[in-house]
Amino acid sequence: MDTKKTHVPAKEGNPVYSNTDTSKLALTDDEWKKILPQDVFYIARMKGTERPWTSKFEKFKETGTYYCAACGNALFKSDTKFESGCGWPSFYEPISKESIIYTPDNTQGMKRTEVQCGRCKAHLGHVFEDGPPPTGLRYCINGVVLDFEKAKEAEKKFNNKGSNDNN
Ligand SMILES: [Zn+2]
Repeated sequence: MDTKKTHVPAKEGNPVYSNTDTSKLALTDDEWKKILPQDVFYIARMKGTERPWTSKFEKFKETGTYYCAACGNALFKSDTKFESGCGWPSFYEPISKESIIYTPDNTQGMKRTEVQCGRCKAHLGHVFEDGPPPTGLRYCINGVVLDFEKAKEAEKKFNNKGSNDNN
């Protein structure tokens, strides 16, 4: 095996961003403000909501993995994504139990469950109980706080083990 390649480079100006480091992060909002783009900071730390139908991921169908845009934590696989018609990227299951934190949210006169990144506690969106099988859940997520990596490279590596055909 040759040297490991990082497929998703660490984010410029964001020293805590990593797709492999799962250690929990506890930065202050001031610290986050310095390392996150303004739109990511607004959703992730101020619990903002992006306007519906504005995310490039809303009708996105590529195969791959979705990561937290604030810290790089793996959150969802594309095969659990579905078209909910609600205006935000929707998934029926997180990539693992640890990838998400659930918090009761009683703001705006509604009883909802907020979902946060399991590593950095970024606000991601909410989970509702009107999703498709097998979970019946709908994770309604702000696309701004998602990064996507295509599965192609990883698949190629597994499918062509031992071969050097990269083209
Ligand atoms: Zn995160």
